[in-house]
Amino acid sequence: MPLSSQKYYFDWFEDLVGLIFPKTCVHCGLELNKREKSLCISCEYKLPRSNYHRIADNPVSDKFKGRLPIKSGFSFLRFTKGNMAQTLMHELKYRQREDLGERLGKLFGSVLSIDNLPAPDLIIPLPLHESKRRIRGYNQCDSIVHGLAVVIKRPYMTDVVERVVANPSQTRKSRFDRWENVERIFEVSKPEEILGRHVMLVDDVVTTGSTLESCGRALLEAGAKEITIATIASA
Ligand SMILES: [Zn+2]
Repeated sequence: MPLSSQKYYFDWFEDLVGLIFPKTCVHCGLELNKREKSLCISCEYKLPRSNYHRIADNPVSDKFKGRLPIKSGFSFLRFTKGNMAQTLMHELKYRQREDLGERLGKLFGSVLSIDNLPAPDLIIPLPLHESKRRIRGYNQCDSIVHGLAVVIKRPYMTDVVERVVANPSQTRKSRFDRWENVERIFEVSKPEEILGRHVMLVDDVVTTGSTLESCGRALLEAGAKEITIATIASA
């Protein structure tokens, strides 16, 4: 089959599938047109963007002050109780919406590219403990990193660092105890990949920052030159 007919056949097939199983917006449920991915254009417009990457001292970078030396830290969206970022993060984490992770990663990548941010040498997702990854079936950060890397045109790897201790319970503990709790829960399995490099560490949501701090420290100790923390949302 010549290429043009192949494309015609594929479009026709996709239209037919779309007719039987129409794709809808993750947020508002409206039917998506062919160009829209995971979210409709109107919901994309309404995303609670933070633009923190334009401000050196922002609520995300502030979380790491005096705890972890980072080059920069920022998130794409602001997360508040019941807002759109919260709903979307829930879909991504618990409803197998990896397509949404990729879409948000791409949108995040576009704003970073527009503002000409210093590009990292390598992008890596915050790893999940293997037991947790097996239960969920995926690491929600992998799809974000994939979308982000495609847009900012930087390499990414998902097996550079491992989580060797499953998350200890962090409720009802002081900040000091929490810090103690998340010490040494990560191990860099491929130090040669990060040696002397600027690494962007990506997570879905940052709250206290303890887990990212612990992973960031492991990366620096293993020889990374500098760390940028980038998350989709920050609470
Ligand atoms: Zn929508």
